[in-house]
Amino acid sequence: KSDKSLILVSNRLPFQLLEQDDQLTMKQSDGGLVTALISYFNAESNRDVFQQKKWFGSADFPEKRWKKFKKQSDVQTDFTIEPVFIDKKVYNKYYNGFCNATLWPLFHYFPSYVVYDQEFFENYEEVNKIFAERLLKVIKPGDTIWIHDYQLFLLPQLIRDKMPDATIGFFLHIPFPSYEIFRLLHSPWKEKIVRGLLGADLIGFHTHEYVQHFLKTVRMVLGYDHHYRTITMQDRLVKADMFPLGIDYEKFSTASRKPEVVQKMEAITKNFPDKKIIFSVDRLDYTKGVTHRLLGFERLLEKHPEWIEKVVFVMVIVPSRQIISKYNERRILIEENVGRLNGKYSTLSWQPVIYRYNNLDFEELCALYHVADAALITPLRDGMNLVAKEYIACCSEQQGVLILSELAGAASELGEALLVNPLDTEEMSEAIQQALTMQPEEQRRKISQMQKRLIDYDVHSWVNDFLFQLTEIKQQQKTEQQ
Ligand code: UDP
Repeated sequence: KSDKSLILVSNRLPFQLLEQDDQLTMKQSDGGLVTALISYFNAESNRDVFQQKKWFGSADFPEKRWKKFKKQSDVQTDFTIEPVFIDKKVYNKYYNGFCNATLWPLFHYFPSYVVYDQEFFENYEEVNKIFAERLLKVIKPGDTIWIHDYQLFLLPQLIRDKMPDATIGFFLHIPFPSYEIFRLLHSPWKEKIVRGLLGADLIGFHTHEYVQHFLKTVRMVLGYDHHYRTITMQDRLVKADMFPLGIDYEKFSTASRKPEVVQKMEAITKNFPDKKIIFSVDRLDYTKGVTHRLLGFERLLEKHPEWIEKVVFVMVIVPSRQIISKYNERRILIEENVGRLNGKYSTLSWQPVIYRYNNLDFEELCALYHVADAALITPLRDGMNLVAKEYIACCSEQQGVLILSELAGAASELGEALLVNPLDTEEMSEAIQQALTMQPEEQRRKISQMQKRLIDYDVHSWVNDFLFQLTEIKQQQKTEQQ
């Protein structure tokens, strides 16, 4: 049996620590990635590869509560949670500052939203160093370290400095922008970020395009060239490759068999008899294109008044990052637009947009995916967009139409969707019209082709593929050295 560990690192832990009546319990967070990685962590099949699995992430609970929890439950498992405790002020400048007011807008092509603040960057460095120090205390030679996302760009190199032979993978969950955008970062930050990332052996992205952008950036910023997606540095080979994140297909495709889901589906359809349902769900974010989407829907009602009282647009926004002003402004803007549109078109017995600002539980989400005649997913930029894939998985009778922004990573895998330019209101309204009038046979053909692709590369294949490629590049490095 192996004595090696798999060490996962992400900004947030996949669990919350809840306290009720002096009793502490761990609650697993939602989200496809968390579910998949945890099921990989718990799987029997990889016990021989990794003796132990540990997940490091910053804690959103005080250290005192964690110590109390550890005392209460001293069960030994081969999967452990390792919270990293970070001072609140430092965390705020790192997370709400450099991560989400600098990197997030820039990497999603919103350069005018970017905040340039040296103190934010220093706190970002500080948090990456705190993670590194904590990890270096536990990593043993032979362990595999898999770091996730833009909050931890500097971490691979911080580990490499102290452990030159470490096996380090990195995966980016957001787009990697073209060099023309990336270059807008302050120069010293730019170089530190690229150097930080190149500390990894394998760097994964969702699409071919993001890989190309990254390779060009490496050449422009540090002058390293590449060959077949492999970068040759002085002492090491680094591979950049494409791993489009999949979903837990099984979980979504079988949801409609759950009685709670069926019940919710019936309740929704009862509310909207003889009406087509268009559905969208997004985290509150200016990258999601919600205001343009409303304009597209409004244009449909203007050009095709036959849909009045015959269609409803159920639009759910999930609260997110409310502390950042750009997010709050966006919420106000969306609500003004919903109000205006409904004010203009509602009749005494009908309202075109059903708007909800709240979380959905899994059953409600699946019920909505199921009953929707069309999903309208039009981000201005999105690393992948899992909602699009989940919708397809939920079309259990192969009925439904996906209208998808060509600027979402998912568009490169879902070519059968009605792909639209999310800024082009006219084009969007035409796509909605096409979706609402598409023949069942054509819907079936498109959905089943997309479903096949999502089954072939689900989130489990994604995890296995990434970890396999990581061992391959380590092998290649050894061969090169001989
Ligand atoms: N989701 C959720 N809570 C909700 C609604 C949706 O956790 O109330 C999930 C949804 O199922 C999907 C994820 O949030 O897995 C959103 O992922 P996506 O890639 O579409 O966008 P992101 O929020 O990561 O930008």
